Amino acid sequence: MSAFLQQCRHLLGSDHVLETAQDMAPYLNDWRGRHTGRALAVLRPASVEQVAALVRACAEHAVPIVPQGGNTGLVLGSVPDNSGRAVVLSLGRLKRIRKIDVANRTMTVDAGCILAEIQQAAAAEGCLFPLSLASEGSCTIGGNLSSNAGGTAVLRYGNTRELCLGLEVVTPQGDIWDGLRGLRKDNTGYDLRDLYIGAEGTLGIITGAVLKLYPQPQASITALAAMESPEQALKLLKLMQDYCGASLTGFELMSRICLALVAQQFPALPQPFAAGHGHGQYVLLELSSNESEQHAVALLERAIGAALDGTIISDAVVATSVAQSQSLWQLREHIPLAQAKAGKNIKHDISLPVSRIPEFIATTAPLLEQAFPACQLVCFGHLGDGNLHFNVAPPEGVGHEAFLANQAAVNRLVHDSVQSFGGSISAEHGIGALKKDDLAHYKSPVELALMRSIKAALDPQGIMNPGKIL
Ligand code: FAD
Repeated sequence: MSAFLQQCRHLLGSDHVLETAQDMAPYLNDWRGRHTGRALAVLRPASVEQVAALVRACAEHAVPIVPQGGNTGLVLGSVPDNSGRAVVLSLGRLKRIRKIDVANRTMTVDAGCILAEIQQAAAAEGCLFPLSLASEGSCTIGGNLSSNAGGTAVLRYGNTRELCLGLEVVTPQGDIWDGLRGLRKDNTGYDLRDLYIGAEGTLGIITGAVLKLYPQPQASITALAAMESPEQALKLLKLMQDYCGASLTGFELMSRICLALVAQQFPALPQPFAAGHGHGQYVLLELSSNESEQHAVALLERAIGAALDGTIISDAVVATSVAQSQSLWQLREHIPLAQAKAGKNIKHDISLPVSRIPEFIATTAPLLEQAFPACQLVCFGHLGDGNLHFNVAPPEGVGHEAFLANQAAVNRLVHDSVQSFGGSISAEHGIGALKKDDLAHYKSPVELALMRSIKAALDPQGIMNPGKIL
């Protein structure tokens, strides 16, 4: 391997070939601290040509490649295994905003651009790039595309896939495919772009992308509504969509236990309803208007009024300032943080047909209770997209580590139920190394065989992110 590493140093300069344990550590640790891998080296190219030359060197020496963006992924996709055979190829130095075309409503970016910086560059031109996740200060657009990230604005703007018009990719052979087309219509054969999006680095390395831009909304307004049950939350979703149409940009469900956990772990955060108020469920709503703030407020007030009259909701607070809106969003964003502070729990990132969510919860919660008495269900998520974070914490008094011994059984129970409701075992986080056994269990043999054929056709040497997805 010394000839290979020598070639890498020659291509990048030795400063950008990291080889000591200390230098490599941040690239080898999983975000949630569940796994630390080993690597031959961490390679930090600064241009597409350097990425291509490195991939050619890897192909020549049969060195596996783990592409990495911000390393915020949650399914062990961006870190190497323990073999020490792979290199981590970090895209962090490819961070140019290449072009903004306001008339075409597109921007062309390097894959290593941080999501928050892309949002800011779009805003500086009076445009909106709507992808938004809690990790936006660290994650990269290449990682967002490779995991087809979701986030909080999917209801209105779609997943990352829907926000991308073109890609530039380095293939596993080290060729550069320039598919940076800013076209909204392009029916010229197989859609290679859609193949690479969501491939988690197993088919090639995304080095650039053409992204869709939208007009900046003139105003957005946030509210928190309280109700008794997921059925009522679903009725509220329909009512809001009927009244507000595409202006509804966020619809987040949080059960009582979620807000109680946030109050317990972050007592300084303001609680909009009196402590222990007793509602079963809460929905955080966001509306955007391209007309004016008055328009947004009028739309929201009319819809909330109808929901109160129809006894769909029992209470609501509407944010009257940016600060209040931020503090409502903080409640939602602090749920995963409160869970982490409370101790490890068993997480599921699932999706279901929106219409079946109440029935899914009503069926699955008692099954869990029966199998794991007094376990605590921490259920929240992007209800408008049919995406639930369906997390299971230990009963009070039982240690979190001890409860993790049930992980496989809890996963099987939840995922079997998801399957029976026509859902998916991974809504937005992907498969990585964490869920590949589940994928093999739940996908049909035909679907798995098609996926394996694609992998074998594009990456016959199997050097791109081995051990992930398949
Ligand atoms: P990485 O973690 O570095 O990589 C993710 C995967 O993509 C890996 O398989 C990696 O090999 C591959 N990859 C990375 N870059 C490239 C590239 N250029 N070419 C080819 N393959 C590549 N996800 C959501 O979908 N919705 C959320 O709401 C959400 N919230 C989050 C909140 C927090 C606090 C955290 C920590 C994570 C959250 N995530 C969420 C998960 C994660 O942030 C996203 O999946 C994000 O898109 C990953 O981007 P990244 O640059 O960190 O990618």
